[in-house]
Amino acid sequence: MSSGAGMDAVSEQVQAEACERPSMEVDLACVGFGPAMGGFLTTLTREMADHPEDPAFASKVMPGMPMQVLCYERADDLAAGVSGVVTRAQGIRASFPELKAAEIPMAAELKRERVLYLLDPVGASRRSAVLRTADFFLRLGRKLWLKDDALELPWTPGLLHKRGGLVMSIGQFNQWVASQVTASGLVQIWPGTPVSEPIFTAEQGVAGLRLADQGVDKAGAPSEGYMPGMDVRAQLTVVGDGPVGAVGQALDARLGLPEGHARREWALGMKMVIELPEGSELEPGTVWHTFGYPEPEIFGFMYAHPERLVSVGIFVPSWMGDPMRTAYRYLHHYIQHPALWRYLKDGTLRSWGAKSLEESGRHGEPFLVGDGFARIGEGSGSTNMLTGSGVDEAWATGTQLGEAVIELLRAGRPFTRENLANTYEKRRRASWVERGAREAEKARNGFHGGVVRGLVGMALAGLSGGRVGVGGQIPPAHQQIKASWSRLKIKNGAVLAVADGRPLHDALMTACGWPEIEFDGRLLVSHQDALLMGGKVQAMPGFADHVIFRDRSLCFACEEQTCVAMCSGQAITRGVDGLPAFEREKCVYCGACLWNCAQSPDGERGNIDFRAGAGGLHSVQN
Ligand SMILES: Cc1cc2nc3c(=O)[nH]c(=O)nc-3n(C[C@H](O)[C@H](O)[C@H](O)COP(=O)(O)OP(=O)(O)OC[C@H]3O[C@@H](n4cnc5c(N)ncnc54)[C@H](O)[C@@H]3O)c2cc1C
Ligand code: SF4
Ligand code: SF4
Repeated sequence: MSSGAGMDAVSEQVQAEACERPSMEVDLACVGFGPAMGGFLTTLTREMADHPEDPAFASKVMPGMPMQVLCYERADDLAAGVSGVVTRAQGIRASFPELKAAEIPMAAELKRERVLYLLDPVGASRRSAVLRTADFFLRLGRKLWLKDDALELPWTPGLLHKRGGLVMSIGQFNQWVASQVTASGLVQIWPGTPVSEPIFTAEQGVAGLRLADQGVDKAGAPSEGYMPGMDVRAQLTVVGDGPVGAVGQALDARLGLPEGHARREWALGMKMVIELPEGSELEPGTVWHTFGYPEPEIFGFMYAHPERLVSVGIFVPSWMGDPMRTAYRYLHHYIQHPALWRYLKDGTLRSWGAKSLEESGRHGEPFLVGDGFARIGEGSGSTNMLTGSGVDEAWATGTQLGEAVIELLRAGRPFTRENLANTYEKRRRASWVERGAREAEKARNGFHGGVVRGLVGMALAGLSGGRVGVGGQIPPAHQQIKASWSRLKIKNGAVLAVADGRPLHDALMTACGWPEIEFDGRLLVSHQDALLMGGKVQAMPGFADHVIFRDRSLCFACEEQTCVAMCSGQAITRGVDGLPAFEREKCVYCGACLWNCAQSPDGERGNIDFRAGAGGLHSVQN
């Protein structure tokens, strides 16, 4: 058999035919190991361990053995999340009633929450006339109510409060959960194993999962060591692959979304974990929510962990409009705002990461169940954008499915759409997750008409329990990118500036009036250096590229090239021909390119296909 990239089409076909797709049967097949799957597997394996003789938990595919439960995670580490977490931990504490923060590395009991409006200390932020006027009057009383160019709200709005909650690192939390679940010996979790798609039945049900092919070239054609991805057949497939997972996307593409639902609201969360200098006075468990800077649309956070560590980050939303969504540089300006810098200055960058958030909530909820499958977590629309909370909700939906599966197994009833609806979906609808989702459903519509309108809409929804809100149509994500000619001119100037090898994001921000970042090699480091420190970016060889430009002619005509400006790892760059080029080795797998494309071949989705892939940036501290 021939091998290598030079293989011709005929030998490719011969090799593909010679390697038959392997297949195996398990009882439950799961995709993705985030908080949602943590909740599911914790609930299920506890019950299995407490009742080892219960025939309900006997395997149907391996007689005499306990139920075979397999979970596949694409990242090569089970601690690969990216999220600073402040959470009420309602669902998490229900699973661990005796939980003490000290049991989980980097976790702290929530002590104090502050909300700050940040003024623009450098004069580059794009502020509307209304905001400029407000800032002007605020500055008049600088000595009375401003400190470090920030106004602290005298109270934390109830909707943001996480009283009695926890501050955590998602990487550490996932690892803590995984170690308990795997110690039971009742579930196998396979990291570094991307799932490419669900196996559909003729009746639109799901019969299991197909793992990604290995030993293929970038385009997916068989190459050296070709190994077709295994088909893992199961009675129930649990889908918890987060906001941009390939399995969730395939289900949405095949089944569509319920009437009136759409997934059009997104944000990129980018964060750093910073070690504070000796003698720092920031108490562990302190939480800051900020708004107003570096752009009015960008919300930020700072959470203090034990041992002088903080998570600091920003959210760049799809409704920002501007095609220049250069999160990495924005994050640098954010941490240098005087209100934060007084704590962070002289700190050391420990790790860094980025990840998309699906912000449509209940409005983007897909079909939660079908014959042979159930969806949990953020990909199932559980994230609450009124309270800014996703981890606890994801966890709770996982536990609800765990309880439902136990009930069905004990009753000897199959995993049909109807049975899953009457057990899992019913529990979810009756729970606090659903109540919160309904309150939050329209809370953010106003942002599509501007920041002030958006904040008013959120406040109204929060005060009225979701009954009152601000109306507004939400266009598809590509239409939310509003190119203004002046901004495009700036972009074109910046493109010329990168001829010297500068990354586009740097040139863009400088061209927009932002001061240069003075790198210090410790906290303020270049994008490329950040990829090398505090974590690992790995692109395992042998997998196909997971970022695909669907229609190159659209890229050719595209002026905005938001995909380049937004790319968290500089993995998408402007190629020599002016078209975007993708470099898998730099991709941090944030998923932002999925919704940061200015064009659409079909009127709804952007011009980028974001598929299952290995690698990404992993740090246990994120
Ligand atoms: C910067 C940032 C800050 C945040 N701050 C907070 C906060 O303070 N409080 C809060 O509650 N929430 C916060 N969130 C949101 C929170 O992180 C998410 O809501 C939560 O992680 C969702 O959990 P999940 O299990 O549904 O999905 P995820 O955590 O996304 O887990 C899904 C898993 O599936 C895997 N996967 C995806 N595709 C495949 C595939 N094809 N094959 C195999 N595996 C796959 C992924 O690698 C991932 O590990 C924040 C998010 C970000 C990005
Ligand atoms: S992927 Fe989208 S944003 Fe990027 S160049 Fe192509 S059409 Fe433009
Ligand atoms: S190419 Fe990778 S790093 Fe860049 S936006 Fe897409 S997923 Fe994120």
